[in-house]
Amino acid sequence: MSTKDVNTMRIAPKVWRNGEFIDWKNARVHVMTHAIHYGSSVFEGIRAYSTERGSAVFRLTEHMQRLLNSAKIYRMDVKFKREDFCRATVDLLRQGDMDECYIRPIIFRGLNEEKPAFGVNPFPNPVDCYIASWDWGKYLGEEAIESGVDVCVSSWTRITSNSLPSMAKAGANYMNSQLIKMEAILAGFSEGIALDDRGFVSEGSGENLFLVNNGRLITPPLGAAILPGITRDSVIKIARELGIEVEETTIQRAALYLTDELFFTGTAAEITPIRSVDRITIGDGKRGEVTKRLQEEFFAVIHGKRPAPDNAPWLTYVNEAEEKKTAAASTTEG
Ligand code: PMP
Repeated sequence: MSTKDVNTMRIAPKVWRNGEFIDWKNARVHVMTHAIHYGSSVFEGIRAYSTERGSAVFRLTEHMQRLLNSAKIYRMDVKFKREDFCRATVDLLRQGDMDECYIRPIIFRGLNEEKPAFGVNPFPNPVDCYIASWDWGKYLGEEAIESGVDVCVSSWTRITSNSLPSMAKAGANYMNSQLIKMEAILAGFSEGIALDDRGFVSEGSGENLFLVNNGRLITPPLGAAILPGITRDSVIKIARELGIEVEETTIQRAALYLTDELFFTGTAAEITPIRSVDRITIGDGKRGEVTKRLQEEFFAVIHGKRPAPDNAPWLTYVNEAEEKKTAAASTTEG
């Protein structure tokens, strides 16, 4: 077997580190690594899906661009380009014989063991880049995609963009997400929705949020304290293609209770319906028609069964990318 079984989870046997592939077991850091103490990391979550043409990575370029945007915000000097991260991802999946999997690129402030620096100032520390991959099922459960999840509004406020920019997918942001998630789980919910510092709806601990009202989609605007989700963007584009109106606007907490349908979007959560908020039933308490329609179209796109809106190149076919490279190499040799 080319991948190993750890707690029934298949993990790619190699990890990409600063331009080379190393064994999974060697992808370790020192306890005095800057990122462990001060949260100085930025990362991505990407999924690859099985298609008739083999494994395909969903919106790889956009994810790697967001990774580099996050690094730029935190003044991280990254020596690899977006294309390097994309190529490394394809090579990693190919080598590990990965099919449907989750991909985790991460850039963080490391430790120079010859010239250690332990203070908050990140500049003396090296910037390390890694990519790992593993098989990951449905984030909020297999059933959730059809029956929906029960969620609460969190007592925790979403981070404000002037303290920790929500545009960056930074490790530190996820301390706020963890407070939201833990509170929800301990209260018997699957997930929590955070309000922003003004009291308007922002997002889940790891998902964007959409309301469906009279057949129209409503979602908080990018200017709010939300991550500019790539699934969010995909859903908006698919909806508009289907002739469904989309409005990006501020949303009051109470509007969540009154909406016809409600769903989360995210790489991990994909499109997950929400059946109740704070124990108040949403609509009929089951997946609504618009949610179902968007799920069907979204799943068709990610599995290569229909083109993306405007024929956008949303899928990177792992085998074909490799074949192209091999063809190019043999041409050069020939
Ligand atoms: N918001 C937060 C806080 C997230 O962690 C995620 C997951 N990356 C999302 C939204 C959804 O973003 P995407 O669709 O790009 O995965």
